[in-house]
Amino acid sequence: MHATDVTTESETAGESTFDLVDLLLEEQQQLSAVELFARQKESGHCELPADRAPDQAKYYRSLLPASSPTPEQQFAFEVDLDACSGCKACVVACHTLNGLEEDETWRSVGGVIAAESAPASGAATDGLPIAIGVRHVTTACHHCEDPGCLNGCPVKAYDKDPVTGIVRHLDDQCIGCKYCTMMCPYEVPKYSKRLGIVRKCDMCYNRLAVGEAPACVQSCPNEAIEIRLVDRSLTEADRKAAGSRTMVAGAPSSSLTLPTTRYVSQAEWNGAAAMDLGIDEVSESHWPLAALLVATQIGVGMVLWDRVSALISLVAGNDISGGATPVLALVALLVSGIGLNLAPLHLGQPLRAWRVFLGLRTSWLSREAVVLGKFVGALALACLLISLPSIQAWLPESINESIENYIPTWAGSALLWASLPLGVVGLYCSAMIYIATGRIWWRFDRTMVRFAGTFIVVGLIGTLAVAALMQLVRNDADVEASSLALMLGSIAALGLVTAKFVYEWRVQLAPSRSTDDAIDLRSRRLTIRSLSKLRGARILAFGISAASLLVATIVIVTADAPTPLVGMALGTALVAAAGGDMVERLLYFMAVVHDRMPGIHR
Ligand code: SF4
Ligand code: SF4
Repeated sequence: MHATDVTTESETAGESTFDLVDLLLEEQQQLSAVELFARQKESGHCELPADRAPDQAKYYRSLLPASSPTPEQQFAFEVDLDACSGCKACVVACHTLNGLEEDETWRSVGGVIAAESAPASGAATDGLPIAIGVRHVTTACHHCEDPGCLNGCPVKAYDKDPVTGIVRHLDDQCIGCKYCTMMCPYEVPKYSKRLGIVRKCDMCYNRLAVGEAPACVQSCPNEAIEIRLVDRSLTEADRKAAGSRTMVAGAPSSSLTLPTTRYVSQAEWNGAAAMDLGIDEVSESHWPLAALLVATQIGVGMVLWDRVSALISLVAGNDISGGATPVLALVALLVSGIGLNLAPLHLGQPLRAWRVFLGLRTSWLSREAVVLGKFVGALALACLLISLPSIQAWLPESINESIENYIPTWAGSALLWASLPLGVVGLYCSAMIYIATGRIWWRFDRTMVRFAGTFIVVGLIGTLAVAALMQLVRNDADVEASSLALMLGSIAALGLVTAKFVYEWRVQLAPSRSTDDAIDLRSRRLTIRSLSKLRGARILAFGISAASLLVATIVIVTADAPTPLVGMALGTALVAAAGGDMVERLLYFMAVVHDRMPGIHR
């Protein structure tokens, strides 16, 4: 009965004791499942008495577990591939019930093409493929036993319910860094531009709590999706047993996160392939991340070469680093600081970023942010201490006295030394952010060679460019020794920049096939076909940086005295090498290809 009907009846009867509030409260007890769910989702707790079964329960009771999970169990989806017709009723129900954005989906339907075998009958054709069939694969979050999303999140915006095993996203904690979208092998968390956070399937835990089926389970006309209890298995042995096993053809290896969804079929399959096999798309460029990586690697690299130069000075007894250190440290600080300040552009909720240290225990992203932050802090302090002699002339006598009494002259240099291991550890954390995703394109050697290459090579070119500038402006330096250092440095940089480019050429840029790795081949194909402009820019940048280094070397060898030409050539080499590595990093992100749930790609 609706409130408007009640009012009309009351008025007709002329009752003066009509209590609208009581009637509305009574009506509230008759809310539909959708209204109840919406209310519970808003309030965050269950409003129904546990013994009150929903009216529709008889239709889906058999699709839910008969009991709660024991401590050794958790809830999981079970999908009957033979029953799913691909109608997408589950997708629509999920979208509607959760009030998703127009382009946001927490459940999707793809497909596999399967060859089915003849049943065993003793005939000669037993086991041979008899038919090619399509199986639709409905997929959402797999509520993994070792969730990559949860492990990677720097602000602990995920939790895994200890009773049900459901992995939930805590919207109000999310900073929108999108790292979970990389850490989840199944592309489950979806970023909402409007909200600036990611969201994902929570198995309609509020509905399950009151005996209602999740929207997808309840809406499927073929009863293809069920909720089942599965045994928890989080030991190393379980992970090893998962090996290269996948939930369904084309899916990522289950060993990455131990997903709990089970796909079942009565058919004897003689092989299956994802419908979208071989169809790859260019991924997001993550340009603020690319800039952060390249800038911090160059900054730490400059500190490294400055310290190497200081060591050589110490050993040789020659002042071949001259007065470059304060300027070098300042440039390294500037470059690293720019990188760190660009990173928040990648966040959907930058004002919440201060909590990024919360995930230190499991998240490489947290570790990177904390350690690189400390590196920049130490470097800034080192710069200040190193620059003190230059600024003391402007300070009052009393302050100068305190400085001389309390700050030893070696403090700046010591802090510069201390900043180096911090920077190197920070860069290692940066690399592990991507290696930890398990994406083959981002595997250890591929990532480390690129990242270390920028750190060592472009860091060296930056150091040389600053040293060449300092050689011009200072008067008291040992010109012969510094020219020798510049020449050796330029030759080394030319060799290293070429070696790094040859590596990139071999693994990604070369048009001819030089690898048997299927994923590498797909990324290379994407680079050549869809990212050809970036590929061309990378090749051009290498050409300019190598040519500039060659010119610098020749000028140093032939000139009698320091000349601005060397500085110009090394400056050009620096801009080209840094720009080239920025392009290389965009290609690293945009050409990443990985196994995915079938048909999930669109
Ligand atoms: S499927 Fe992805 S989002 Fe869901 S629990 Fe596993 S890792 Fe997390
Ligand atoms: S903070 Fe980042 S990793 Fe954590 S849920 Fe949000 S987008 Fe995902």
